[in-house]
Amino acid sequence: MTGQGLLLVISGPSGAGKGTVCRALMARHPEVAYSVSATTRKPRPGEIDGVHYYFVTRERFEEMIAAGELLEWAMVYESGNYYGTPRQAVLDNLAAGRDVILEIDVQGALQIREKFPEAIFIFILPPSMEELKKRITGRGTESAESISKRLACAATELSYVKKYDYCIVNDLVEKAVEKLEAIIIAEKCRVQRL
Ligand code: 5GP
Repeated sequence: MTGQGLLLVISGPSGAGKGTVCRALMARHPEVAYSVSATTRKPRPGEIDGVHYYFVTRERFEEMIAAGELLEWAMVYESGNYYGTPRQAVLDNLAAGRDVILEIDVQGALQIREKFPEAIFIFILPPSMEELKKRITGRGTESAESISKRLACAATELSYVKKYDYCIVNDLVEKAVEKLEAIIIAEKCRVQRL
């Protein structure tokens, strides 16, 4: 056995419910480590620094890039903010045998694919474009401009689905989590990982 944990990369358009699926998986499997990203965006109500994200200034983020502290980083089109994965926590968890989830956009996933070809790439899809539109518009907190930006970004993200190893349609969260668990179990049984 290699003793290394699995590196699970989870992407999907805004409104596909990837955050909900990841939280449900973590609730069932507290032993899985969730990589807390750094971002330059402002916290939303209820978000806690160090739990949901490390909220940093643009200067600090650029320092992290220069110092090689990030495994991957990207400017996410939707908001124009930087997002990145702190390197050390991920490497430490993997070395300790813990599975790690990176919930990141497609640009970041492509960088991880280059650096960690053994990582597992999972794309979360909404049940339909109609449902995606409903979920994005239904948040009720956003301007028409922000909604149309989100929809355009969702369409771009969707075009990357074929670059992933697995795709899960999130019609029911329970079912989506079961599929995610099944993928993890199957990956742990791969002969190459023994
Ligand atoms: P939000 O601002 O809604 O929390 O996230 C916006 C987008 O940024 C989502 O698609 C999310 O997956 C992505 N994201 C979050 N953290 C990271 C990260 O560390 N790296 C990259 N590349 N994308 C991230």
